[in-house]
Amino acid sequence: MTTSERQKPVFRFAPSPNGELHLGHALSALLNHDMAEAEHGRLLLRIEDIDQTRCTPEFEAGILRELDWLGVGWESPVRRQSEHFPEYRAALHALIERGLVYPAFLTRGEVKTRVTAYEAAGKSWPRDPDGTPLYPATDRERPEDERQEMLTSGKKHTWRLDMRKALDLIGELLFWTETGDGRSGEIAAEPEVWGDVILSRSDAPSSYHLSVVVDDALQGVTHVVRGLDLFPATSVHRLLQVLLGLPQPVYHHHRLILDDAGRKLSKSQGDSGIGELRASGMSGADIRRLVGL
Ligand code: GLU
Repeated sequence: MTTSERQKPVFRFAPSPNGELHLGHALSALLNHDMAEAEHGRLLLRIEDIDQTRCTPEFEAGILRELDWLGVGWESPVRRQSEHFPEYRAALHALIERGLVYPAFLTRGEVKTRVTAYEAAGKSWPRDPDGTPLYPATDRERPEDERQEMLTSGKKHTWRLDMRKALDLIGELLFWTETGDGRSGEIAAEPEVWGDVILSRSDAPSSYHLSVVVDDALQGVTHVVRGLDLFPATSVHRLLQVLLGLPQPVYHHHRLILDDAGRKLSKSQGDSGIGELRASGMSGADIRRLVGL
């Protein structure tokens, strides 16, 4: 890489290959492409495939094909998260050594049972911005000897951030720079609303939050352009950047493409994919118009 390349702004499009590319992704990819071009920057493509049960090589191939058809070019090589587990593991271990994460043994079902029983008594359990109940304090407060015993016995677990401890350690409000379609300017991060987030899953040595900040730093990303649905998660990303000593990119969270019922498009709802729109005779220019560019 030459010196002038090193100084260029770096954008990235980071889809998960667990379904086909839909109009929401097309908006994100085209915006990244257009903004990178306007800033004479570079555009990287990152395949976020740590969830090996839902991500497939076929979906990845489809994403590459549709992006190419849309006229979105990217630099080689493509970064595939499933090929970089050691980097995420190293970041996790740095946090384990500082006592900022703990092994969490409750299954999703056990948490659900507990929350349901609690709410049956007329009280409400706090939820994160995605509506998921915050993780109970049980494992955070578990005595160290018991924790070690459970780990040694090979009990299945995830690793969670001790949010209170992390915030106490930092001891100051964190901000990020936002230039997107919602609130913009210097945004105060509110990581506490997420509770003890997962940093490593039981089936993969990482999580979305951990991989995304590690990769953005390792790839030298200076501009993160993604949907407004990830605006709240940026609070966690900002906190992890500070804990891990990573640089902070500028964030641009763009409007979402909603379906007729006003819901965000998703693969699971069977929204028509870009491949299907292409097969129906649409052109790349039609897709641009459809997403309002
Ligand atoms: N992989 C995420 C998704 O497909 C995007 C993550 C990001 O852009 O930070 O929704």
